[in-house]
Amino acid sequence: MRLDDMPRRLFVCTPSRLTSFVDCPRRYRMTYLDRPILPKGPPWAHTSFGISVHNALKAWWDEPLARRTPARAAHLVERCWVGEGWRDDRQAARYRARAVEMTGRYVEHLDPAQVPRAVERQVAARTGQLGLSGRVDRLDERDGELVVVDYKTGRRPLDADDARTSLPLALYAYAAERTFRQRCRRVELHHLPTGEVIAAEHDETSLTRQVRRAESIAEDAVGAGDALAAGAHPDQAFPPRPGRLCSWCDFRRHCPEGQAAAPDRRPWDAIGDDDEPDEPGGPVASTNRRG
Ligand code: SF4
Repeated sequence: MRLDDMPRRLFVCTPSRLTSFVDCPRRYRMTYLDRPILPKGPPWAHTSFGISVHNALKAWWDEPLARRTPARAAHLVERCWVGEGWRDDRQAARYRARAVEMTGRYVEHLDPAQVPRAVERQVAARTGQLGLSGRVDRLDERDGELVVVDYKTGRRPLDADDARTSLPLALYAYAAERTFRQRCRRVELHHLPTGEVIAAEHDETSLTRQVRRAESIAEDAVGAGDALAAGAHPDQAFPPRPGRLCSWCDFRRHCPEGQAAAPDRRPWDAIGDDDEPDEPGGPVASTNRRG
């Protein structure tokens, strides 16, 4: 029971936590509430690919200016390579070469002297209901304002809506502005396979709308948690939301509805192997390592 004049406890969360609840309440429960955590499936090749590239780009900015070259980026991908989830060494080597080429090509278009304000940086902010935090791939500073940069390494082409409607990107901008006390309205998706930059400009209204959306999701998640604590059946409080993406869910083996909704996939299926027929769709390899 809560007295009306008692301060409400903040819901501490990352953007990933919020979107996880929206995507599938059962998966949210298994990820964030159940203890001990149920065993997950094997590592995914597309996740390894994304992590390798993200880590190489972070390391590239840590290099002294003279070494921020495409050749160095290629070397760093080799050094940061994550060898999990691949069918065999041959497939891993082919995709490592692709990551090397893609990352080298991407940094060719960067000004190595234009050091970002932050790389792989935690940003945080409070609202009336939320204690938000999350890790931003890169924060640029342009014309006195911060710009959120999010790397994408998946095959799926992106469009303007991906940046404009993204809850995580808006929350990163909101949190970055408060962490650095500097205006941050522009968010960008950098799609490395094509070199495309998909940008969106937020204003006070659109950021506020996304924060309200986040608070509303948090309210639902808290309500579901309260119901569970009060004795509701886990599947009533946190129902499964089966769909096409159940193929890629880490908790699929514990979820009959998910298994019925989408076929089993091998850990490398989302990567689109050249040796096998290409599978359209599948998850976008954004790695999702952070919030
Ligand atoms: S398999 Fe699908 S329905 Fe089941 S927990 Fe995962 S995302 Fe939810």
